[in-house]
Amino acid sequence: MPGRLQNKVALITGAGSGIGLESSLLFASEGANVLLVDVALTGAQKGLGLIQERYPNVKADVFQADVGKEHDVRAAVDKAVQVFGRLDIMFNNAGIMHPEDDNALNTEERIWDLTMQINLKGVWWGCKYAILAMRQNKRDDQLGLHEGGSIINTASFVAIRGAATPQLAYTASKGAVLAMSRELAMVHAKEGIRVNALCPGPLKTPLLMDFLDTPEKRDRRLVHLPMGRFGEAVELAKAALFLASDDSSYVTGSDFIVDGGLSAAY
Ligand code: NAD
Repeated sequence: MPGRLQNKVALITGAGSGIGLESSLLFASEGANVLLVDVALTGAQKGLGLIQERYPNVKADVFQADVGKEHDVRAAVDKAVQVFGRLDIMFNNAGIMHPEDDNALNTEERIWDLTMQINLKGVWWGCKYAILAMRQNKRDDQLGLHEGGSIINTASFVAIRGAATPQLAYTASKGAVLAMSRELAMVHAKEGIRVNALCPGPLKTPLLMDFLDTPEKRDRRLVHLPMGRFGEAVELAKAALFLASDDSSYVTGSDFIVDGGLSAAY
């Protein structure tokens, strides 16, 4: 049976760890050709090795890029088109969090700017070059490929709920990703380009666990989680797979919340 992403081409940023790594493996398992993009290549190389071992029928490659640099993002999209012939899925997922003193009184402008550079401008550039590439897509009924494509931007639950722990620049950047994704979805809907924002709850990945580095800090967060546990990266990868695939053909402009019920909790 063909996979849910058979013959599609996906570019995933932040592919060396967490959500990005799990999504790379899952997308490949569903037949996608995947370009794993990360600023640090070790994790992405590991992902590439696993894909080559488990899914020999798909094509995959890695590309080193800092999404905080427009030139790098453009080069990554060019690489995907050059190696795989087109781009159907752009998963703008890379992000950073600076938890130390990231509040209104103490956040340094340097931290604010760096967070915006990677979390917000990186997503903008990812959308910009993906849209340009997706506009070139021709329908191919034999391969089951359509015009346009699917863009998924990783925001966060903090884009829709205030976090009591200080992470102001991060929260602001994710709120902006959410707003930007909605507008892009409206502007490009008629071109067959869908844009959705994925809003994960707290996950058991290095981004958060490096910050919650003691049982006390973790327990303080767990109190707010209706399921009593942090999410797994693969649970987000499954949501991203839905948004990437034609199963979500009528879904665009959504705040796609995958947070174990956190945003519904009192
Ligand atoms: P992670 O730390 O496990 O992985 C992030 C990856 O992004 C790493 O491989 C890192 O090298 C890469 N990266 C960092 N800066 C980069 C840059 N400038 N250019 C290219 N790659 C870069 O984190 P994760 O939990 O998988 O996070 C993925 C996304 O999910 C992020 O946007 C994050 O903000 C968001 N998110 C995470 C959580 C959580 O609890 N972990 C919750 C909500 C949203």
